[in-house]
Amino acid sequence: MRTEAEQQLNDGPKIRKEKVIVSKMIRIYCKKKHHKKELCGECQNLNEYAMKRLSHCKFGEEKTACAKCSIHCYTPVYRQKIKEVMRFSGPWMLLYHPLESIRHIPIPDKLRKSISR
Ligand SMILES: [Zn+2]
Repeated sequence: MRTEAEQQLNDGPKIRKEKVIVSKMIRIYCKKKHHKKELCGECQNLNEYAMKRLSHCKFGEEKTACAKCSIHCYTPVYRQKIKEVMRFSGPWMLLYHPLESIRHIPIPDKLRKSISR
């Protein structure tokens, strides 16, 4: 493991894909919760933070789902926010992007069963 300063920014396919997914989820959240066409300031800020965390993720291409990660690199405030986004946007992701989302999101079992039927 390297320190953040000497680590190259992650740019592998897995990290890039995760960035796309997280961005989509934040967008869904903002659109439906804050009723904005474009990301509002707060969500923009969260999005930038999330992208930065992924770029600096010490596991890079080896990373697991963030929810299962042992490090939890988010500060508590952002962690709370992103959790809320995941919880809110999870079900929408299943509708819009089912294959991408299944691995990442803590979906209630009931819901998981109903979509895989
Ligand atoms: Zn917003």
